[in-house]
Amino acid sequence: MKLSQLFRNKKQVLSFEIFPPKPEVPLENLFDSIPGFKALSPDYISVTYGAGGSSRGRTVEIASRLKNTYGIEAMAHLTCVGHSVEQIDQVLESLKHENIENILALRGDPPIDQPDFDFSKGAFRYANELIAHIRKAKEGDFCIAAAAYLEGHVDSKRLDEDRRRLKDKVDAGVDFLVTQLFFDNRLYFDFLDRAAQIGIDCPIVPGVMPIFNARIKTMTARSGCSIPAKLVLMIDKYQDNPEDLRKAGIEYAGKQIRELLDGGAPGVHLYTMNRLKSTTEILEVAGLR
Ligand SMILES: Cc1cc2nc3c(=O)[nH]c(=O)nc-3n(C[C@H](O)[C@H](O)[C@H](O)COP(=O)(O)OP(=O)(O)OC[C@H]3O[C@@H](n4cnc5c(N)ncnc54)[C@H](O)[C@@H]3O)c2cc1C
Repeated sequence: MKLSQLFRNKKQVLSFEIFPPKPEVPLENLFDSIPGFKALSPDYISVTYGAGGSSRGRTVEIASRLKNTYGIEAMAHLTCVGHSVEQIDQVLESLKHENIENILALRGDPPIDQPDFDFSKGAFRYANELIAHIRKAKEGDFCIAAAAYLEGHVDSKRLDEDRRRLKDKVDAGVDFLVTQLFFDNRLYFDFLDRAAQIGIDCPIVPGVMPIFNARIKTMTARSGCSIPAKLVLMIDKYQDNPEDLRKAGIEYAGKQIRELLDGGAPGVHLYTMNRLKSTTEILEVAGLR
């Protein structure tokens, strides 16, 4: 099913994000947890695409098994950085062959060892070009989602320009948006107003990242997201007690989700980090179990 249809028919859509394990780790380790994730009744599960396409085969395989073996609707992430048009078309063909109808279309990050990476040398420079290509090459085959950044993308020098670029992306053929992680729900609700002002009228689904450990500080610093002072204090308080930090992170994420849904968000996309137990606990706090 195309997720655009789901967003039309369902008031609030619950989705999980999982990532392919490293190549040396068997996929079965992940699949062992899939029945447990399924029992939590997500409307769909999305599967990330390794930086620079490193896990491209695994992304398609996992999405396919979610859909065709486990009967869970799936969305495959797809980044265009470093890919030729032919490579992108091959992935699109594989997805179509596996009956995957939903793509989160992204530019992707530069390779970690190439901070001065030149995006202009690739076939697609920005996500809007990839989206336009999918729409043109595979008309009607896919529902397309894209990423939105409440605090602006880390490369962007101006927030208003980042939002204009987002509008370009939506105009290229996006059905719904999923946001980057954030910890203050006011950022999300403010963003909805600003997006509406510039004519973005597709669903904007908040992406919620639970705090599992103190590494969140590095992750947010890298992606340009802020952490509210009360959360910094929480992380510092439990820095010598990982289990208490995990529990506090679960409590925070569960309450964040509840507030987003009560405030009218069209759903929630939970970055599960492949952690079934914590995901279950978060949904309990959010009143979704
Ligand atoms: C929900 C979500 C899921 C993600 N999943 C993955 C994943 O699976 N794999 C992965 O590798 N990464 C993933 N990412 C990270 C993402 O690839 C990076 O954030 C990447 O740097 C930007 O991708 P984008 O599609 O948002 O880029 P774009 O929308 O292309 O934007 C990138 C930057 O370019 C600017 N820009 C856009 N268009 C133009 C233009 N025409 N002219 C000038 N500037 C422009 C934007 O303002 C922004 O600063 C995900 C991010 C999110 C939020």
